[in-house]
Amino acid sequence: DTPNEPLPIRRLQESLINRIAAGEIIHRPASALKELLENCLDAGSTSIRVTVKDGGMKLLQIQDNGCGIRRSDLPILAERFTTSKLSTFSDLSRITTYGFRGEALASISHVAHLSVVTKTKTETCAWKAHYLDGALVEGKPGQTVEPKPCAGNDGTTIIIEDLFYNTPTRLSALRSASEEYSRILDVITKYAVHNPKVSFVCKKTGSPSPDLSTPSSSEVPQAIRLLYGHSIAKDLLHVTFSSKNKASQDQDMEGEEEEEAPNRETWTADAHFTNANYQSKKMIFLLFINHRLVESSRMKRALEAVYSGVLPKGASPFIYLSLQINPRDVDVNVHPTKKEVHFLNEDGITDQISDTLQRSLASQSHSRVFEYQT
Ligand code: ADP
Ligand code: MG
Repeated sequence: DTPNEPLPIRRLQESLINRIAAGEIIHRPASALKELLENCLDAGSTSIRVTVKDGGMKLLQIQDNGCGIRRSDLPILAERFTTSKLSTFSDLSRITTYGFRGEALASISHVAHLSVVTKTKTETCAWKAHYLDGALVEGKPGQTVEPKPCAGNDGTTIIIEDLFYNTPTRLSALRSASEEYSRILDVITKYAVHNPKVSFVCKKTGSPSPDLSTPSSSEVPQAIRLLYGHSIAKDLLHVTFSSKNKASQDQDMEGEEEEEAPNRETWTADAHFTNANYQSKKMIFLLFINHRLVESSRMKRALEAVYSGVLPKGASPFIYLSLQINPRDVDVNVHPTKKEVHFLNEDGITDQISDTLQRSLASQSHSRVFEYQT
């Protein structure tokens, strides 16, 4: 041992680099599932069925009825930075789909065995393909790596097996299968509230009945009732509100045109939240920004403060808040591990939301539409 002698610097192997990068995106079964759910929703699915074995460590399977993946795209599907959702840099500022950088499937293929069965409407059969470390591989030894035709419905099934089989430290950092499973259920529950038109089902392999099942074509309050229970649903208030600046006041919010006054901040919020009659030990807070489940400790603290004036000490509310902010004003290009999201005028928006909830709680009023002008 000669501590003064520097060790040589070596280039890490490509496969090791990829495995490390993948571990930063895919933390646990629930984070893989979140990416896959977002893909299903991006694909326009109305039915999403999740099957889980051993908390998702052994098997995580997601079947959707979305648009499917073209046979010709399968060879590059699990390569890093391959996506159908982004092509130019300026696309980044108007991206509205969940995923945008083609990293989820690639990452998964570096830390698990990934298989895909998919069929588009125009194809006459489904195709099955297996992936490892970003590339197509044979399903069984000796078989060809080419996707194989098979029977299947329109849509896509993603099968993840043996998650973290090659990263033992990551595997040992996971909790018990039942705890990982409850995290999976939590993610699906939140997406099911936010997407009441989509039917979600989640079950364990071999189990006869699902642990979570929602109908399609429902509405948010019904979804909350089904998933979080009557005691929350019966004490819910609902407000929607928006903010427009001068430049865009006269325009329809939906009809987004390219050429508009710069620096306009336009956002809308839709909130379902419990009134003062409901008290829970722990705050339940569902925050979606532009349809992506995110966390904002700033927003959470502000809303906690609002309720501290309404509820007894130690009691907490249920809040579902869906914010739509002009994609230009949201920093989506943060690393995907950053669940914390940042957006322009965060303080102002947080204040206005707190203010609106406060007024609504004070008057126990419902379904009011507030409009702010900035
Ligand atoms: P991203 O979502 O950022 O594009 P992903 O790695 O999550 O990256 O997915 C890569 C591509 O694979 C997507 O752009 C999409 O074209 C396709 N894809 C993935 N999952 C599905 C799905 N469930 N249905 C249809 N296409 C999918
Ligand atoms: Mg994606």
